[in-house]
Amino acid sequence: MFFCSACDRSYDACHPRWRCDCGNYLLYRNGARFPLDQLGGRPGSIWRYREMLGLENGTRVSLGEGFTPLERAQLMGRDVWLKLDFMCPTGSYKDRGSSAMLSKLKEWGVPEIVEDSSGNAGASVAAYAALAGIRARIFVPQSTSAGKSAQIAMYGAELVKVPGSREETTRAARAAADAGGFYASHNWSAHFLLGMKTVAYEIAEQLQWDVPDFVVAPIGGGSLLCGAWLGFQDLAAAGAISRLPRMVAVQAANCPPVYDAWKSGLDTIPAADKKDTAAEGIAVARPIRDKLVLQSLRESNGIVATVGESCIWEMTEALGHMGVYVEPTSATAAAAAADLIATGVIAPHQSVAILLTGSGLKATDKIVAHYF
Ligand SMILES: *Cc1c(COP(=O)(O)O)cnc(C)c1O
Ligand SMILES: [Zn+2]
Repeated sequence: MFFCSACDRSYDACHPRWRCDCGNYLLYRNGARFPLDQLGGRPGSIWRYREMLGLENGTRVSLGEGFTPLERAQLMGRDVWLKLDFMCPTGSYKDRGSSAMLSKLKEWGVPEIVEDSSGNAGASVAAYAALAGIRARIFVPQSTSAGKSAQIAMYGAELVKVPGSREETTRAARAAADAGGFYASHNWSAHFLLGMKTVAYEIAEQLQWDVPDFVVAPIGGGSLLCGAWLGFQDLAAAGAISRLPRMVAVQAANCPPVYDAWKSGLDTIPAADKKDTAAEGIAVARPIRDKLVLQSLRESNGIVATVGESCIWEMTEALGHMGVYVEPTSATAAAAAADLIATGVIAPHQSVAILLTGSGLKATDKIVAHYF
């Protein structure tokens, strides 16, 4: 069933729907319990946890996404965990959500979709749409990295570059969806969010059913942070873990709506004034799922951090020197973790996992422009 995040409506999930009639985003619940005792012999992908992905029948649009390495590394002279989620099939963690969402769209028999994205979600949705045999039109801002645009086109989607801001891209996509084509937005889809929960399941399983004290993630629309938090709660409800991590949401100082709202103790997130940032993947002026973002932070005794442009680039380079090539958006999480370690918020005896979301290969043009 779909449940509205704002009113008391609910809907059968057998029919295509991306939002409530009242205009707010939906959440999916079916009472599934985390399959703790049934994991033996299952695939090393998000489909290991298939009960949790909200599919009614056996439809599965998969490229083997998920079960990415959780590796030990040194940051600020101490051990941290790096979750190498940029090793998903299209080079970003968004494949977790796309696999679940496109499986549902295929189950529904939707023939054509529209999506808007700063690049990674668009590339990911384009890949899984190709796999599902669904036509996709992907709207991106003109400024999107060339690597991401090329990737979208190579997957056979129709690429529409929109002059102007990320928000203007959304408006163009919504207009196209109104004219025909299902609006398959990662910022709205309840199934995309279900796919994101798997990152929490994996971290716990990889740590032999424990969790780190802190989980640090970049935040734009919040699918990753909220999905991970919901996933940890599923694990606790099933008795798979006996404690919960504190979630750390990281924004670019040049686009900090979540940070501003959290600091001011608001219940909703007003649009932020947005300046250019190298962290294009999280340059979201106003997250759609704003209540869920704030609720996840409150429930997890969370922290919101911001990082400046020079810190983002320094950490992109520092990670490279550790053999880890990520795009600047992903480096924000490591930069914030370093800061929290340096200031003692993350104490020496506490463990931390840093979610590394997108491959550096995605942002070659921006990296070249910055360094060469
Ligand atoms: C989309 C994205 C994020 C985070 O986005 P959410 O909308 O908060 O899930 C983080 N890193 C990269 C590289 C991304 O593409
Ligand atoms: Zn509603």
